[in-house]
Amino acid sequence: MNTIAVIGAGTMGNGIAHVFAQNGYQVNLVDISQSSLDTGINTITKNLDRMLTKERIRASDKQNTLNKINTYTELNKGVENVDLVVEAATENLEIKLGLFKQLDEICHANTILATNTSSISITQIGAATERADKVIGMHFMNPVPIMKLVEIIRGYSTSEEVTSIIMELSKKLGKTPTEVNDYPGFVANRILMPMINEAIETLYNSVAGVNEIDTVMKLGMAHPMGPLQLADFIGLDVCLSILNVMYNGFKNPKYAPCPLLVNMVMAGKLGVKSGEGFYNYSESRKAYKVASQFS
Ligand code: NAD
Repeated sequence: MNTIAVIGAGTMGNGIAHVFAQNGYQVNLVDISQSSLDTGINTITKNLDRMLTKERIRASDKQNTLNKINTYTELNKGVENVDLVVEAATENLEIKLGLFKQLDEICHANTILATNTSSISITQIGAATERADKVIGMHFMNPVPIMKLVEIIRGYSTSEEVTSIIMELSKKLGKTPTEVNDYPGFVANRILMPMINEAIETLYNSVAGVNEIDTVMKLGMAHPMGPLQLADFIGLDVCLSILNVMYNGFKNPKYAPCPLLVNMVMAGKLGVKSGEGFYNYSESRKAYKVASQFS
């Protein structure tokens, strides 16, 4: 396996491109938006600079990593002749089904098609292609260069061979792959999202403010980051999509997204990527609490 296409240069896509490139793979980073590609390369550069300052890499490693990444706005140019595609586009069923149908037509027959989806059915995505045996979930965690886990999700038709290739590849990236079956939210988000949603309900019910809720979970449960801040980092739109997939998939009201989360997404308050969520990120990277109406 030499050349990897990463589709989507957002929060996850740029991190996935970074990790593959740093481990010596040639990466084609593809996004429909040139500005997302520019921001993605900027983020990778900043993250490499931080690693350089902490003496985790050498200056030559930084340059080698950046040299291994090419960017494309046209899907067919970015994915022809690649061994693996890791799709990390927006968490939306129609977008993913459309992309996989196109990928199946453009990529050569042996290319493995992986998706970084947080919750959408791998089986359904696979069924949009003529190669469901080569479609697999490769769910990296945020921030990708730091987090060790890759949740490997086998769809109904994913082959044993493809699963072991992707498990081995994840190990070569220095990650710990963990195999799970294909049900809404898989394991990571089935457990994480109800906690985040409950934190938002707690705020919505005025039980406590943003800082207080996050402080209780940080200091009381030894979480490195409170659930509201974590939601901002994940993206509130992504959290809402995942909850909706679980709500619709299990037909269980316990996954119903909190109305406050729905309102914030409709208002464009998506967290770090939009500059504001439960905290404000517009003036500095250091988060401070927003809106006193929630405190
Ligand atoms: P994001 O909104 O930050 O980025 C998505 C990118 O996809 C954007 O740059 C957008 O321009 C691009 N895009 C949309 N349609 C496209 C298309 N047809 N072709 C190419 N590019 C397209 O989203 P994200 O947070 O990086 O999430 C990406 C995927 O990773 C989602 O499936 C999400 O569920 C999953 N994920 C997210 C997190 C997280 O913490 N944010 C963690 C694990 C997995």
